[in-house]
Amino acid sequence: MDKQLYMNGEMVRGEGNVRRILNPSSESTVATVYEASVKQVEMAIQAARDAFNDSSWKEDIEERTNFLLRIADTLAERREEFAVLETENTGKPIREARLDVEDSVNCLRYYAKLVKDQQIEETDQWDGSTSRIKNVPYGVTALIVPWNFPLLLGIWKIAPALAAGNTIVFKPSELTPLTMIKLAELMKKCALPDGVFNLVIGDGQTVGQTLVTSEEVDKISFTGGTKTGRTINEQCARTFKRVSLELGGKSPLIVWDDANIDQAVEWTIFGAFFNQGEVCVASSRILVHENMYKPFIKKLIDKTKKIQLGNPLKEETEMGPLISKEHLEKIESFIQLGKEEGATLEVGGERIGQKGFYLTPIIFTDVTLEMAIVQEEIFGPFCVIQSFSSEEEAIKLANGTKFGLAAGILSKDLARCERLADRIQAGTIWINSYHTPFVNAPWGGFKQSGIGRELGPQGLAAYSEPKHINLTPKLDKLGWYRF
Ligand code: NAD
Repeated sequence: MDKQLYMNGEMVRGEGNVRRILNPSSESTVATVYEASVKQVEMAIQAARDAFNDSSWKEDIEERTNFLLRIADTLAERREEFAVLETENTGKPIREARLDVEDSVNCLRYYAKLVKDQQIEETDQWDGSTSRIKNVPYGVTALIVPWNFPLLLGIWKIAPALAAGNTIVFKPSELTPLTMIKLAELMKKCALPDGVFNLVIGDGQTVGQTLVTSEEVDKISFTGGTKTGRTINEQCARTFKRVSLELGGKSPLIVWDDANIDQAVEWTIFGAFFNQGEVCVASSRILVHENMYKPFIKKLIDKTKKIQLGNPLKEETEMGPLISKEHLEKIESFIQLGKEEGATLEVGGERIGQKGFYLTPIIFTDVTLEMAIVQEEIFGPFCVIQSFSSEEEAIKLANGTKFGLAAGILSKDLARCERLADRIQAGTIWINSYHTPFVNAPWGGFKQSGIGRELGPQGLAAYSEPKHINLTPKLDKLGWYRF
């Protein structure tokens, strides 16, 4: 099991750093991973380049569609195995990991169908000539993802990149490579041509940077923190390398006073604490109408105390551990900061158990828009509550950060919800629900939450460029010059 990189159709052993992958629940070692050396990353890029140039992959939609359907079926058959491994590596409750695998299967099938439906080229007639517009793949794509949804966020990139005819060098987070290793082991069995998909494992500074700065990589698709995204964007600008960025958020959930209070409390907990709050779109800012504020907070605190933390492999567990000790300490430092800023810690922030990176879910009140705990992405089970009295104020608070990834509105008055949705600066807005990703709708951020979109037809367009071919059947006299 020491061959964990996938290059040019073979599993190979990494020659770089050696890393122990921990189960965040038990702190035991799940695997030892042999990461890629810089030379191996360059070899993987070359394999992707050769496969793009020399194989039929970029031309043959049938071959691509069939592969996507085969790998989707294989993943569906092995759903439980992938879900358990994802839970062991990330600490997310098994119910959630199963959803991730299901969504991954749907995404592969969606892009297999979409690319077939869209293969008709557009043509037009102008002044006796014919114009043909063809979407062509970029070539070698480097796909970089974080640790919170290792398989699902990977598939959100792999499925459209392959559907569009690109080849791939994929880099998972160094903390959570295990489900992607397992997926790589299935590529050959599903008859993917050698070199079309390559897996390199390692940290951002060595493996990630080699991908971002390589002149042989045509497109970077990155999901991760806003700070990392900024560095990558600046580096890509130097050679105008194509880049898509899915970055951080600080998403507001607006709770109006006409919403059913019990249902609103449950959706709020789901929005803020699903996947331990380690979700880019987590509703980490709750905005509650002043008429409902007091009873709402009371119920929210009561119910939050009842969330079942524990072994994420157990069916009844509702919240697992955080991804790592470092991440837990980072969140604790934000608790300290919140107190120093003058906010009130209502509940949470306690470590529990002898082993594992468990932290009880955190709610702060008495916050103002300027505070760091309201402005910065904390990326854990950490939410702040503010009250508002009017639509105007709700909008001002909702739009009051540098982020614009998602938002939610809970209210009976659908006309009001639509009015608010029109004015909120966010890529996804859920009215009377939260968190569901729709594979056929775009996903991404306004403002500093990113550039570009994943999922939906936009997610496929992110992996190709339009080429306009104008054909005049016969060479005629131009008559522009006087000679
Ligand atoms: P991160 O930015 O530290 O790392 C993300 C990935 O980039 C990892 O694979 C990492 O190894 C790599 N990386 C780090 N530095 C790099 C560099 N200089 N060059 C190239 N690669 C580099 O983020 P993280 O802590 O793993 O993930 C959390 C962040 O991801 C949060 O900010 C969260 O909001 C964001 N996220 C966004 C979305 C979205 O869809 N918008 C989804 C999930 C997570």
